[in-house]
Amino acid sequence: MRTIEHWIGGKSVTGESPRYGEVFDPAAGAPQAQVVLGTPDDVDGAVKAAREAFGSWGQSSVTARARVMFAFRELLEQAEDDLAKLISSEHGKTLEDARGEVVRGREVVEFVCGIPQLLKGEYSDQVSTGVDSHSFRQPLGVVAGITPFNFPIMVPLWMHPVAIACGNTFVLKPSERDPGVSELVAQLYVDAGLPDGVFNVVHGDKVAVDAILDHPDIDAVSFVGSTPIARYVHDRAAATGKRVQALGGAKNHAVVMPDADLDFAADHLVAAGYGSAGQRCMAISAVVAVGQAADPLIEKVAQRTREVRVGAGSDPDAQMGPVVTSVARDRILGYIGDGEAAGAEVVVDGRGLTVDGHADGFFLGTTLLDRVSPEMTVYTDEIFGPVLVVLRVPTLDAALELVNANPYGNGTAVFTNSGEVARRFQRDVSVGMIGVNVPIPVPMAFHSFGGWKDSMFGDHHVHGPEGIRFYTRAKVVTSRWPHVSEDTLAQFNFPTAR
Ligand code: NAD
Repeated sequence: MRTIEHWIGGKSVTGESPRYGEVFDPAAGAPQAQVVLGTPDDVDGAVKAAREAFGSWGQSSVTARARVMFAFRELLEQAEDDLAKLISSEHGKTLEDARGEVVRGREVVEFVCGIPQLLKGEYSDQVSTGVDSHSFRQPLGVVAGITPFNFPIMVPLWMHPVAIACGNTFVLKPSERDPGVSELVAQLYVDAGLPDGVFNVVHGDKVAVDAILDHPDIDAVSFVGSTPIARYVHDRAAATGKRVQALGGAKNHAVVMPDADLDFAADHLVAAGYGSAGQRCMAISAVVAVGQAADPLIEKVAQRTREVRVGAGSDPDAQMGPVVTSVARDRILGYIGDGEAAGAEVVVDGRGLTVDGHADGFFLGTTLLDRVSPEMTVYTDEIFGPVLVVLRVPTLDAALELVNANPYGNGTAVFTNSGEVARRFQRDVSVGMIGVNVPIPVPMAFHSFGGWKDSMFGDHHVHGPEGIRFYTRAKVVTSRWPHVSEDTLAQFNFPTAR
């Protein structure tokens, strides 16, 4: 069986007395590879390699860094098929969906190809007589990224190209469920001319994560994953003085107004709810049907939900693949049962689906639950599977109240034909990313991505301008090249402009 190893200082490394994790093919329901699970020594080895590389990479010119990113971008495009196949085989998502995440990740590299422009400082001439002032930003040093299973290339790409283009060196701890693609990415960086030790990968679980959080020579941590772990990562890393951004889970509501085009809304709700088997942090998981919209909307959504084609990720006709593990499948089944027992109406039941030729695969059909109320666990918890729940409310005010009372605040959408409603919604909703007739409003790479409330701990969102700020810190220089005069004499009072 193939073994996926760490990548440290420009080469594959097994590590000392490693433990191993199984990497499954979710469509077959069987292991296809094993991954080394790192020790604190492995993390330390990666940090040492990154620190040594920072000595020269942190001093390299911004144009040299941009050139590496241009080359990396080309290689990512050429490798798109291989990357997508590997992601689909370990995650289970369809090939086209995997291709989509490769493209969205590559767009972050395209964004940082402009790093010379992005890192331009500010200059003020003559802030006092003969005195000028300028500000600029410098890299932090060694930074780490800890990432989830659901976007094994895109979420790491939110982080490392930005950090590296800013002059930092990087240690990635990918999800142990689908770690294979990080090996390919490391090789592409080598081919792009990135010096050894600038990008390192340590595989593992909680042991490796804790070693990262406690390591005294790591300057910042970026995390994306579930809310309990995001909160833990934020608190533990901040306690050791690191800069932290920790993005957590979600319960994304789509509010559908009676004036919306209900066919359009139903098409988009079904794609956004069940695409990637609902395993997207920006998936729509709760439909909020307002007033008269409810009955016709649910009929249209139910019809489309029944038509979703489920199959292996490699099946070109499949619209949705299996979920990632048997544990995930059983957890999702448990939620559907709990919802039914609590009084939700099971309009479409995805339990018991089998896919020909994949008897052991981790498959589930699409499930639609109507008449869900806010105290049911199918609403309070992030299910992270192909389950859409519908809540009925009388007015836009009630819809806003519901969304704003929810502890998560990652993404949301409103379907309406009223500009007034859309404007009110975007101004009053307590959520970081908002779609108007756009169900999955993932910001482009040149904007920043991040949620509110329990969907994000820390300050800066990822990529875009906030990503550049997260991976750098500012200096302000006040300078004078004096000729001796009345104006340049030293003074004991606090200096003011003269
Ligand atoms: P997860 O929280 O289980 O794992 C994320 C990372 O944390 C992995 O690298 C994992 O190895 C590590 N980890 C897991 N348990 C740990 C522990 N006890 N101590 C220390 N480290 C631990 O998340 P997941 O199941 O891989 O991914 C799905 C979750 O990620 C969902 O909640 C989803 O909403 C969220 N997510 C959020 C965003 C976002 O942008 N907000 C994006 C993608 C995914």
